[in-house]
Amino acid sequence: MVGSTIQSRIDENGKLIIEKIPHESNLIIIHTIIWVIVVLLIIVFIALLLRYIIAKKYENEVIKHSKRYNKLQEINKIYSNKFCDLAPENIYNKKMNNKNQFDLFNYDKFFMNTIKQEKEFYVKALNKANNNKNFFQDYINEINSIAPDTEIENKRFKSLYTKIENKLFDKEKLSPVTSIKMTCNLSYTSPKGRNHYKKDFHYDADDINKKLEYIDEYNNYTETKEYQRKLMTPTLRYEIMQRDGFKCVLCGRTAEDGVKLQVDHIKPVSKGGKTIKENLRTLCNECNLGKRDKYDENGLN
Ligand SMILES: [Zn+2]
Repeated sequence: MVGSTIQSRIDENGKLIIEKIPHESNLIIIHTIIWVIVVLLIIVFIALLLRYIIAKKYENEVIKHSKRYNKLQEINKIYSNKFCDLAPENIYNKKMNNKNQFDLFNYDKFFMNTIKQEKEFYVKALNKANNNKNFFQDYINEINSIAPDTEIENKRFKSLYTKIENKLFDKEKLSPVTSIKMTCNLSYTSPKGRNHYKKDFHYDADDINKKLEYIDEYNNYTETKEYQRKLMTPTLRYEIMQRDGFKCVLCGRTAEDGVKLQVDHIKPVSKGGKTIKENLRTLCNECNLGKRDKYDENGLN
């Protein structure tokens, strides 16, 4: 227990002063404690340093002598060329302008559009992940078949040796990215920063793959004749006739001349023609009948 003495005296103005003066022996105790702590810290530091140096020395010995470790290095060299560099996760951070936008955010639409826009990137990423996955299985099989070192005679050292070897093994083992995922972080901060809202959603490799397949199927469908014929709506038909001045672009006759106006694909759908304005024209039924599916590259029929 730290003791002290209460002393009173009269100062030069004649005022009574009461002071608490610690015993000298207390100061010595405090100094001693500080010194002991400092010395202990130094000892701990030196001990840790020695431990590190010794561990490093053993490690170097194992690296030098372990056939198992060296075999791993050889295998690693081969496989590091086979594995592709790949980011495991693609993150999109989206800040919303208002709470409504935040609440009504259409994840699926966002996902669809992102995959559509970055299709090439995701196809490549999935291929890389698959490549890594396939080679990784071979890699694991190969390193598991490395035989353990049997030459160490000293039993005590053997257990330490094996321990260090295993540690090095785990540290050096390659771990390629074998799957990808996509994450979208949605956030909204209210004016003046009073409220923060956050949510996120994730798509794994399987989801991405399915979306890519869907996009491909959709693209293939849009190439079909059936789809091209469906695109020919009454509105589009009217627009084409209006553009052509409601007369046949070949003979110039109008409905008043007793012909029926029709909208014709210049390059027929049956020959891969698209339902787009550039490929459409107004013809009268007689000119159209004469044309049939004959298609002239110069559009003269
Ligand atoms: Zn005509």
